[in-house]
Amino acid sequence: MTGPVVGPPAPWEQVLAAVLRAAYAWSVRHTGAAAVKEVARMTGVLMAAHGPGVGPVTPGELAEALHRRLGLLPAIADCDDREISDAILLADDCLTDQAYDLACEYAGPLGAAIDKGSRLPSWTMMRAEQIQAAAREAMAESGRQQDYVASRRFLIEHPAATSRAELRELLSVAGVSLPPGGYQAIPAEQRHRARDGVDWWWPCPICRWPMAVTGDRVRCRYRPHTASYRIARTPWARSRSRPGVAPETGPRSRHRIRPVLTRTDPGPRVAMPAAQPAADAVCVETGIWRFVVVPGASELRLYRKLTRLGAAVELWPDLDAYDLLVTVGSMAYKIDLKEYRSTRRLLEKLRDARPDVEILLPDTHDRQLGVLQDALPRAVRVTTERRFVSRIRNQLKECR
Ligand SMILES: [Zn+2]
Repeated sequence: MTGPVVGPPAPWEQVLAAVLRAAYAWSVRHTGAAAVKEVARMTGVLMAAHGPGVGPVTPGELAEALHRRLGLLPAIADCDDREISDAILLADDCLTDQAYDLACEYAGPLGAAIDKGSRLPSWTMMRAEQIQAAAREAMAESGRQQDYVASRRFLIEHPAATSRAELRELLSVAGVSLPPGGYQAIPAEQRHRARDGVDWWWPCPICRWPMAVTGDRVRCRYRPHTASYRIARTPWARSRSRPGVAPETGPRSRHRIRPVLTRTDPGPRVAMPAAQPAADAVCVETGIWRFVVVPGASELRLYRKLTRLGAAVELWPDLDAYDLLVTVGSMAYKIDLKEYRSTRRLLEKLRDARPDVEILLPDTHDRQLGVLQDALPRAVRVTTERRFVSRIRNQLKECR
């Protein structure tokens, strides 16, 4: 597997990568010795970074520290990004949304000696570019642009399926190849066990991946997908009586009810997700969701929006050299969508990469525009979804 060359991480970034791994491993420590060992190894990385006599010095102390602000760890006190120093990675021993966000932007290799033997999922220890590069390699196997686009669209449009049989059917219709890892059973943290012992899951209304279930709260792990829900308390229903059939009585008359959600945030209206049975359902793994499906949902939204306006739009040209080629008359625009939670991280990337395509911030991230424009050289062009769409609309009008 190959990926872009990245510079050596700052000391605090190494510690951040270690605590993200430790937080993940702690959250799954009941799964076996490998996870427990991983927490111990990461405690060692922190002790080496902090020097003698500075805590945490045991896995238990580290887990306690991960329930508090990261900035309280001496090694991370040097980091001036509040996104990071204010983040809390664990709540009641479960990974927080902030932990997922940070892992997606700051997970990274810690060195051959430490990485050897780690059996963590890729998104907790690999950089986004490496996961994307591996997925791209698998999807571009045939070398044909149309196969690549079909595979990528498939993952974005079907990040979960109700069963392997349904997935096989969908795949054979689309005729696509899959990235490594493929699909897996829906993880326990994304299922709701009803009182009758039946498991359910809900697709996020934006990305369609199973939303995280914490107690009775249901929400997509990607925080810009803001719709939040609570599982409504539904009593066991009695069978409805049918004409000529006496209503049943007693416990056997009860039947399974599909749990329902109520919306708890005031955000824009979206269709209410319906509960799906989880027993046979499958979904893509976290790394593919976060690095292919989440940005893909925005890429496809923009693709549809611009196509509807009348522009000619090509997705991921030249096997993903960039995201969209938008053509209006004789004008062609090469666009890369960037959806980073940390403005600082995005700034670093753009400074290093000096992209020659125009960078587009989706509507959810347009507040980053001012900071980026102030800090980046003029040669790096940055715009927002709103501005770009209005530019294309105006040009289409001129062409008519
Ligand atoms: Zn989502």
